[in-house]
Amino acid sequence: MILIPPYSDDKSWNEVNSSINFLLDKYETEKLRKNAVVIRDLLSSTFSFQDELCFNTCIKCFEPCCSIAQIWFDIKDLLFLNLLNIKVPESQPRTEKDSICKYYRPLKGCILNRLERPYICNYYLCNTQKKNLRKNKPVVLKQTEKIFFEIKQLRNLIEDDFIKITSMNL
Ligand code: SF4
Ligand code: SF4
Repeated sequence: MILIPPYSDDKSWNEVNSSINFLLDKYETEKLRKNAVVIRDLLSSTFSFQDELCFNTCIKCFEPCCSIAQIWFDIKDLLFLNLLNIKVPESQPRTEKDSICKYYRPLKGCILNRLERPYICNYYLCNTQKKNLRKNKPVVLKQTEKIFFEIKQLRNLIEDDFIKITSMNL
């Protein structure tokens, strides 16, 4: 079954991002920004490892996950991007018209910078990659899982704080 992402038409995509921006400007969101910076730094610390891993696995892959992924930006992703003024991609990865992610290019992979992608795209390790890591770099796998867990908690915290701050001041 093909799932249609939320905010998948241009109008609602622009609206949700403008609303988030408006609320972030209107309320005291310094704490949220600080947590977003921690996420950015934690995430960035995994990029060279991820690049190397992709080089060793994705290049030889016969069924790239990006060509079948049903993923999208959720509110946590949009908060992260807007809090740090990172360029928000022009739309959800898929709309009703797209059967596969519009940021995927065969043989080239994702055209978005890693920080601009939905978090799940950075977090996801497929079975081939996990096997490769368990065999060759078990310590790195453990460290990376710890980083992803920390990021998950911070993303939840940002969303909770955002809801709290904006609903308290209604
Ligand atoms: S992450 Fe795994 S499934 Fe996705 S392209 Fe790379 S090797 Fe293939
Ligand atoms: S956004 Fe990028 S990494 Fe995520 S599914 Fe699309 S092409 Fe793959």
